[in-house]
Amino acid sequence: MKITIIFPAREIEVGRAMIPVMPLAPTLLAALTPQEHDVTLVDMVYGDRVDYEGPCDLVAITIRTPLAVKAYEIADRFRAQGTPVVLGGPHVFAFPAEAKGHASAVAIGEAEELWSRILEDGQSGMLQDFYVSGPYKLESLTGSVYHVPQRPDLSKVPMMRRDLLPRKRYLMDSIFTTRGCPNFCRFCPVTPLFGPQIRHRPIDQVVAEVETLRKYYFNVDDSVFGHPQLVKPPEENRYYLDLYSELARLRSKRLWSGAGGLSAVNYKDGRRIIELAAESGLCSIAAGLESLTGSGQKQSGAWRKLHFTSPDVFDERILKENIRTLQGLGIEIMGFFVVGWDEDTLETYQRTLDFCDETKIIPMILTLAPMPGSPVYEEYLEQGRILTGLPWDRYGGEAVVFRHPAMDPESMQTENGRVMQEGFTWGRIFARTWHTFWHRPSPGVAMNSFFTQMGMQKTFKYLLGK
Ligand code: SF4
Repeated sequence: MKITIIFPAREIEVGRAMIPVMPLAPTLLAALTPQEHDVTLVDMVYGDRVDYEGPCDLVAITIRTPLAVKAYEIADRFRAQGTPVVLGGPHVFAFPAEAKGHASAVAIGEAEELWSRILEDGQSGMLQDFYVSGPYKLESLTGSVYHVPQRPDLSKVPMMRRDLLPRKRYLMDSIFTTRGCPNFCRFCPVTPLFGPQIRHRPIDQVVAEVETLRKYYFNVDDSVFGHPQLVKPPEENRYYLDLYSELARLRSKRLWSGAGGLSAVNYKDGRRIIELAAESGLCSIAAGLESLTGSGQKQSGAWRKLHFTSPDVFDERILKENIRTLQGLGIEIMGFFVVGWDEDTLETYQRTLDFCDETKIIPMILTLAPMPGSPVYEEYLEQGRILTGLPWDRYGGEAVVFRHPAMDPESMQTENGRVMQEGFTWGRIFARTWHTFWHRPSPGVAMNSFFTQMGMQKTFKYLLGK
């Protein structure tokens, strides 16, 4: 069969990725495709056009919520001309029936146990309505269902097909080493999607794959330090200690980034994991700090990953100490904050930027966007606080999609835009780059910091000029 795998993008995003990272989902799906099939990847973020005229026997599209409108438009057009379409990704996990209205089949959950069966059924013209991997409420599905109850064993994941995309267009390759998150942050659909147990890819496979990557790569795991605050050491920590020891021993070093929780610095094993990760090339992490107030920590559920035993004991000083420790180990931090928790006010945006200035972390201050599939979305929906008339493409950060008790959507947008533009003035970019270099005198790391921030400056300027 001729298979087209599409990574969709909204017009506003085309050619404007903040940090050009090769997408993982389509390269993974291509890798899972048996060799007898012919696969084409379409990355619309980089301007690839969808070819509706060429030969194609099956289309697969991965959807995140802000991309749902675009993905459905593409799917409808292919189906109108008789080409079957399979939709998957986090959005269809939350809205399978809606997705089925635009698809020949919907894949719910992880692809590894489903994709070869979908291809067999597609080839024989016998696609089921739904393909489900992992625990899921099957009774909510109307139609025929193929179900594999267990989550995939990650030792069977093949090497991604990065050769199918022009790698030079990306600054970074991407890879994953684990799936699953025990943290249950209330605004995040990851735990329901991948489960609370962390599953690991075998170390030798990860190391072999890293050896094929280019100079910079991004690890898309939920936390590259694991979750030492929630797991029982030493068994879980052993994986990260061994993995980074192996990667640190590689002759050809690469720089890499990923997401990581600050709590790791509070554990002996955690600090060793960070040191080894830095030795293996880790230069920056995206850390979900979420809020600077106890009430925001409570509403977001983020306090666990920040090493607090309860949101009531949240203390900004401890957060700062943990930030300093991590920076002292040579890791730059991009701090992700969400503003829009019930007790937040318009001043919260500026206060959060002040905190980032003081701690020299790269600010990523976002207005809350309750994502379908997350507990906050369900709760706000029940309370009538979700602005239900909005199309899904408004969930990309350019609009406020819920009612706040004290702030109006326009003021939130304006203030958010202002602090994000201010957060990336040249003075601030240089100050943070110098701070990073001072802690880790590596020209490569400093360049990575500078160009990452420049990309963010450019993207925010463009988005906010809209
Ligand atoms: S935000 Fe991060 S730590 Fe929290 S549940 Fe999602 S993936 Fe896990």
